Amino acid sequence: MAKQLLQFTDNGIFCAEGNFYIDPWKPVDDAVLTHAHADHARTGSKRYLAHDLSREILKYRLGADISLQTIPYGETVYKNGVQISLFPAGHIIGSAQIRVEYKGEVWVVSGDYKVEDDGISTPFEPVRCHHFISECTFGMPVYQWKPQQLIFNEINRWWEKNIEEGKATIIAGYSLGKAQRILCNLDLSLGTVFTHGVIENTNDALRRNGIDLPKTVRITPEIPKEEIKKGIVLLPPSAVGSNWMRKLAPFEFGFCSGWMNVRGAKKRRAADRGFVLSDHADWDGLISAIDATGCESVYLTHGYTATFSRYLREIGFDAHEVHTLYGDDEDSSIPEGEKSLIPNPSPEEKGEKAETHNEKTGVKEASLPERQALSPGEDLGEA
Ligand SMILES: [Zn+2]
Ligand SMILES: [Zn+2]
Repeated sequence: MAKQLLQFTDNGIFCAEGNFYIDPWKPVDDAVLTHAHADHARTGSKRYLAHDLSREILKYRLGADISLQTIPYGETVYKNGVQISLFPAGHIIGSAQIRVEYKGEVWVVSGDYKVEDDGISTPFEPVRCHHFISECTFGMPVYQWKPQQLIFNEINRWWEKNIEEGKATIIAGYSLGKAQRILCNLDLSLGTVFTHGVIENTNDALRRNGIDLPKTVRITPEIPKEEIKKGIVLLPPSAVGSNWMRKLAPFEFGFCSGWMNVRGAKKRRAADRGFVLSDHADWDGLISAIDATGCESVYLTHGYTATFSRYLREIGFDAHEVHTLYGDDEDSSIPEGEKSLIPNPSPEEKGEKAETHNEKTGVKEASLPERQALSPGEDLGEA
């Protein structure tokens, strides 16, 4: 077999003709990034290429002095004669699918993606290609998302009820992507949105990038608890269960994640409410996205790669599982330098850390029993 245009190496997805990597997990000379989540954008590479809207958040997370070129969607750059262009992935602000073309052969690396328009990220656009490298975080039939408006109606009604009952409202979602998606879909006539430092730093970076986010108030010790109780608090998953959070009692605590449709997930987070809201494609979304590429072969990088590749082969795709070190950004998007901002990690948080991938094997350890316990079709009632 001739050498593939994109190969899976120990450093990451590699284009030998162009001499660059896509979302490498080891430092390299030239890294092209799909988006700024920690498992896709890692420190130490000499040069980075990413979307314009990822500029400030990448500098914030990887260092202000990185060598970074950014381009808009649809613009082409050449590396050693290989064409590279970015297309919207709909996952978070600035997230891109990377299209690579050489001598008429087209590959697309999806990064993480979702097909629903979330109102804040540029909506996903299918890109025609011969070979598609896809995630499949939620590649099991049990994962079927409701339209986000239904979920946000639930969240807003819940917030309103908490205000009436004199309880604080705390809602958790990861700091880059989910937090801004929640923020932009809240009913802001109900009250003020307070943010944990990790989320507010992320908001600030996005605002420096020209993104017009609604007003938020960074929580400081000076703000009276009574004020906070009238608003809603956006918290990163790692701050859940902290002493600081307990001091807001009585409160109602909601958790937003695609994993919330798995039985028991809400309980493990000690959440009063679980809102099923994911920035990844669900089962139908994955299949429609892959279908729309018109591709011959699919390579699955992370998620339920075994189940999903088997299904794709059954319906006629040349599908392969590949080994990568991409993890689960639904829970692990806190940059290393920000962990100190999080007061008193809770037992839940420690559990969450175990849920991210094992660096050596790429296997999501703690989450495996939960996932293995699920058979397709089970739990649909909770979705
Ligand atoms: Zn991601
Ligand atoms: Zn990912």
